[in-house]
Amino acid sequence: MTSAPAYNSGSGWNALLPPRIARTEAPAERGFPAIVIGAGFTGLATARRLAELRPNDQVVLIDASVMGEGASGRNSGYLLINPGEPSANAANFADDWANRQFSLARAGFEILQKQVRRYNIGCDWNDAPVAVTAAATPNVEKSARKTREQYVKWGLAPDEYDQSALHRLTGTDYYRYGLDSLTRALVQPAALHRGLADVLPDNVRLLEETTVFEIGEKAPFSIRTSRGDFSTGRVFLTNNLHARALGFGGSRMVGIYTYGAFTPELDDHDLMGLGTEADWGILPAHRMGTTLRKVGRRLLIRSGDSYEHENDPEAVRQMLHTLYRNRFPHLRNDELEFVWGGLTAVSHNGGFIFGEMRPGVFVSAGCGGAGVVRGSIHGELLAELACGEHSKLLENRLRMKGPNWLPPEPLRGFGAKIQIRFEQWQAGRER
Ligand SMILES: Cc1cc2nc3c(=O)[nH]c(=O)nc-3n(C[C@H](O)[C@H](O)[C@H](O)COP(=O)(O)OP(=O)(O)OC[C@H]3O[C@@H](n4cnc5c(N)ncnc54)[C@H](O)[C@@H]3O)c2cc1C
Repeated sequence: MTSAPAYNSGSGWNALLPPRIARTEAPAERGFPAIVIGAGFTGLATARRLAELRPNDQVVLIDASVMGEGASGRNSGYLLINPGEPSANAANFADDWANRQFSLARAGFEILQKQVRRYNIGCDWNDAPVAVTAAATPNVEKSARKTREQYVKWGLAPDEYDQSALHRLTGTDYYRYGLDSLTRALVQPAALHRGLADVLPDNVRLLEETTVFEIGEKAPFSIRTSRGDFSTGRVFLTNNLHARALGFGGSRMVGIYTYGAFTPELDDHDLMGLGTEADWGILPAHRMGTTLRKVGRRLLIRSGDSYEHENDPEAVRQMLHTLYRNRFPHLRNDELEFVWGGLTAVSHNGGFIFGEMRPGVFVSAGCGGAGVVRGSIHGELLAELACGEHSKLLENRLRMKGPNWLPPEPLRGFGAKIQIRFEQWQAGRER
């Protein structure tokens, strides 16, 4: 595997923002008390919290990419507090697991909310979103209703939507049932990601477009990068799936690509065919389903899953175009303006890697498909763990199960591809 993600095309969200000048000037000094590898939402939170807890220490935060271009700037911008993946059927979750996930996700949301308010980060933050988990088929409607029953049991009562309410909201009659998705905010993810990177404390040194190839076995750790070697007493791996390339999580996480696209800005006629709200969101009630968002004058569509390999951009465009047309045959627009892929790290049981994996090596990796809030809280907790802080949340997190062991290749890939194909077939019209 490569040392860091390399995508076929840029993030559509990032393309909508002014160009960014990456911070690439490596410090002359080479030894630091802490080095954080990977500056997605997880790494940003780790570096910020370390800097707060140790204000006299310099923290170096290294990313192979430019802020806004990694998975943290390629996602669909849902800040969810639900206990599973965006589309998961929560009906089978144990109460204990769900409670812990809820409290982590809520804390992650609050971290982001506080930063956005404090620094006035411009990221189209909408914390009164109409965002619905919707089903298009009778079977998936049944499981969505069961999920709602479970939420009610946990003291939540998500609003329900019937077909005509969903039609009014989105302009399509594709969906037959929906429930509030427990999305606490919708954002422009690349703007949020860049914004957080730009307000890091003064004692964090961000280094973009710098790939880490190798870390030493023990402290002081040598860190071999594309801009020379560094050394540190403590290293933090927050580079998600690519922690594998640095020796962690290889038998616990797999890489799943999923794909997003925007329509061009729609004309007034087409906008009238997209319902009454200025912005709305639809999450799939089946995990192989499709995410939609109305974002200003554009429609976002996200779908597709491929194992460890990014599909050809033209095939992706066709796939997303078909799914878009299936839902919005009444729109005149027939084009997609940006198409991109993004990598998620997934485990078999939904658990992810968290903790001090070797003396001085702290890892948080594998947040799956809902890592904006979860990455933010895990990043912060990782810093707290390393600094000897105590909290109920951290204790709870340390008690949660990590990811299951996975069989080696080629068995693993064979099994994963069969499962993806089967679930895609099973999803039918939900795709
Ligand atoms: C299309 C799509 C839609 C999604 N929608 C949502 C959504 O709506 N809501 C949600 O919560 N989640 C969503 N997700 C998932 C979410 O984007 C991820 O869970 C989140 O980005 C994880 O954050 P992270 O910081 O842990 O990892 P990442 O964002 O993957 O960040 C890891 C960083 O590490 C860097 N890196 C990797 N290896 C190295 C190395 N060797 N050296 C230096 N740097 C390295 C990478 O460049 C990257 O910037 C979506 C994902 C995709 C792809």
